[in-house]
Amino acid sequence: MGAIQAIRGTRDILPPETNYWQWVEAIAKGILDRALYQEIRTPIFEQTSLFERGIGEATDVVGKEMYSFTDRGDRPITLRPEGTAGVVRAYIEQNLQATGGVQRLWYTGPMFRYERPQAGRQRQFHQLGVEVLGSADPRADVEVIALGTDILKALGLSNLSLALNSVGNGGDRQRYREALISYLTPFKDELDPDSQDRLERNPLRILDSKAKRTQEIVQDAPSILDHLGPDSQRHFDQVQQLLTDLGIAYQLTPTLVRGLDYYTHTAFEIQSSDLGAQATVCGGGRYDGLVAELGGPITPAVGWAMGLERLIILLQQMATPPVPGPDFYIISKGEKAEPQALILAQQLRQQGFTVALDLSASAFGKQFKRADKSGAIACLVLGEGEMATGTVQLKWLASKAQETLQLEDLMGDITELKQRLAGHREK
Ligand code: ATP
Ligand code: MG
Repeated sequence: MGAIQAIRGTRDILPPETNYWQWVEAIAKGILDRALYQEIRTPIFEQTSLFERGIGEATDVVGKEMYSFTDRGDRPITLRPEGTAGVVRAYIEQNLQATGGVQRLWYTGPMFRYERPQAGRQRQFHQLGVEVLGSADPRADVEVIALGTDILKALGLSNLSLALNSVGNGGDRQRYREALISYLTPFKDELDPDSQDRLERNPLRILDSKAKRTQEIVQDAPSILDHLGPDSQRHFDQVQQLLTDLGIAYQLTPTLVRGLDYYTHTAFEIQSSDLGAQATVCGGGRYDGLVAELGGPITPAVGWAMGLERLIILLQQMATPPVPGPDFYIISKGEKAEPQALILAQQLRQQGFTVALDLSASAFGKQFKRADKSGAIACLVLGEGEMATGTVQLKWLASKAQETLQLEDLMGDITELKQRLAGHREK
């Protein structure tokens, strides 16, 4: 019988790749902590109707990509395809607005979409996202954008660009919709089948089509930015001014849309020119209508989601390893030395050092090779000779300098030992 394989479009994330994941999560958490964003964890499955209402039945995500099933009690259930709908459901159900003021939240976890798997596009993938609920202030739009760019910059990414648009409010979009339908109708036969379908139902989504001929046609379409009313224009002007004040460059991109009624005003994407076809690492915008659409009080909101697989592909293309090697690599051989090595490892770990313990009991030469490969700063050697004299060999792996210490002296002054390690790490 053949071995069981993982489901198409899913993958195991193995060490050392998991180091990148933990690194991204730690960097993001640090940046979000400093802006007082709090983590929220919502269930991975929800009632199907949450996504139908929250994302919209005319979207690809709801129309074609959801993992939906009925459970043993015949309830329609869907594995979440994105994070916002669940966060908004929790906001309403748990009455989070009652805690007063603006809610700044972040989440991370797996999402599920039935798509054609390819590089940077999977069926189970992971997002990290933020949502700010309860503020219509353009500073909230720009704060979330700035935090997104800060995270990407802190990870060392460059070649990023911010595409920015405003989809206005419902009234603006109604007027724009008509202009767009008039422009597109003469091209109807040349549009891809999905876009033909959407011409009357949801023409804004056509701007987002990935079909080549449709994209060409859309290039000359009327711009939503020429259809913004005064309130929307003011909000968008302020967003742009604040981005400029923060030194964040952006490209006005009138074809960037989130074509649903409750998406409003700011829409944006952060793209990397290092990613090929799946270029967008972060997408978001304002959704002032969504909380009310899902049955809550009228609540302006803005947020984004980052695709972590795409981010990690980018990070792996860079040379820098995200995780430094251990402080010590301990090697030992002999009946007395081997248990002593474990004791020493535990003592050092308890003092805050990162310690690799070689369990092979193989020849010292082999263990030394692994110590070198481990990226450790120093190697500690325990053999029969050291055991007889109560000593330990300390070998600095970069310089190859070696010293013999009394075992009890090694940890005699922890502060000094930490300083010495730091000195060697810098070299
Ligand atoms: P795309 O146009 O690439 O399909 P999207 O508009 O469907 O993206 P969003 O729903 O805005 O994407 O999700 C935000 C981010 O999540 C995307 O920019 C991308 O980085 C990531 N993402 C979306 N779908 C997938 C997927 N199937 N596999 C991996 N990452 C994904
Ligand atoms: Mg998609």
